[in-house]
Amino acid sequence: MLAQERVPVLIVGAGGAGLSLCLLLRQQGIASILVEQRSEISWYPRARNLNFRTLEVFRGLGLGAGVIAAGTHVSRMFRKETLVAAEREEFPAVEAAVQILDDPEAVSPKPPMWYCPQSRLEPLLLAAAKQRGVDVRYDTELVSFTQDVQGVTATVRNLQSGLYLLFVRIIWPHATVHTVT
Ligand SMILES: Cc1cc2nc3c(=O)[nH]c(=O)nc-3n(C[C@H](O)[C@H](O)[C@H](O)COP(=O)(O)OP(=O)(O)OC[C@H]3O[C@@H](n4cnc5c(N)ncnc54)[C@H](O)[C@@H]3O)c2cc1C
Repeated sequence: MLAQERVPVLIVGAGGAGLSLCLLLRQQGIASILVEQRSEISWYPRARNLNFRTLEVFRGLGLGAGVIAAGTHVSRMFRKETLVAAEREEFPAVEAAVQILDDPEAVSPKPPMWYCPQSRLEPLLLAAAKQRGVDVRYDTELVSFTQDVQGVTATVRNLQSGLYLLFVRIIWPHATVHTVT
């Protein structure tokens, strides 16, 4: 018999999306379990630049200052014929593009783009999630799930111990099932 746990929401994947989602749900008072097959946060920068709307979401989570502190201005970008070519043409900086607006502050109080790669963002979001009581489980893989009128049943495996767990969520506890003939 597999161990069973009931949870309102099971989130699979602790990348930027999963970590942000568990924090946003937590903010609304909705409990979740976040499972991630990796053993730890991503050490690769991958998604690097956050736009101002994303920064506003983090500000809404009370993480705005932390994200700004963890990041820096977006790098300057150049176009060259070859990597060793002496001549180069600079692409306009995103900051400069926004400054041509009459009132950039009206668009957002946040910088238009901020360099905060996944390798810096994930630890920050993970720490906030743990601190706010989200159940985050690394080394845990979603193996399969099924869905029926009762809800979703997901099977996850702890990659260290090899143990399987069953997560069950009743989606529609009060729903009536209508049969159309
Ligand atoms: C090499 C590379 C370079 C990139 N460079 C850039 C860039 O310069 N700029 C940019 O904006 N974007 C870049 N990206 C894209 C960026 O990484 C993604 O857009 C971003 O990570 C998506 O976030 P996410 O949270 O949706 O997914 P991810 O960060 O990929 O997170 C998904 C997570 O789900 C986990 N997972 C998957 N299946 C399971 C399972 N069955 N059970 C448990 N866990 C599971 C994975 O391990 C992963 O950690 C790059 C991607 C790669 C691969």
